[in-house]
Amino acid sequence: MTLQRLAVLEFLEGNTNHPSVEEIYRNLKKKYPTLSQATIYTSLQVLRKTGEIQELSIRKEKTCFDPNPKPHHHFYCQECKKILDIEISCPVAEKQWVDGHKVKEVQAYFYGICNYCLKKTKNKRRIGGIT
Ligand SMILES: [Zn+2]
Ligand SMILES: [Zn+2]
Repeated sequence: MTLQRLAVLEFLEGNTNHPSVEEIYRNLKKKYPTLSQATIYTSLQVLRKTGEIQELSIRKEKTCFDPNPKPHHHFYCQECKKILDIEISCPVAEKQWVDGHKVKEVQAYFYGICNYCLKKTKNKRRIGGIT
């Protein structure tokens, strides 16, 4: 395994923020100034192909990466722009077959407002005396 791939894996390990290539690059640059964004992207693609990480297209403007290779779903908050893991059981992911088709990857994207942002707006309203 190359140094770049190790650095990328090390950064992603235990990271639940689903960072984009730019975010990974910005963080790794501090520790490894010689790394380029293109090398990081190539490393991410290799890790994705070997099944060590997942690539998410939940954010239309940028691709994000997830170090958790197990099938799970994602929620995108349109307020704070966070990507959250959704822990619901998915019958397709368990059976790996749907209508006779072999499923290799399962990704469902949910869009909306996260519970943190919902609480925040509720509190704001209460302070403002609207409710
Ligand atoms: Zn939110
Ligand atoms: Zn995830």
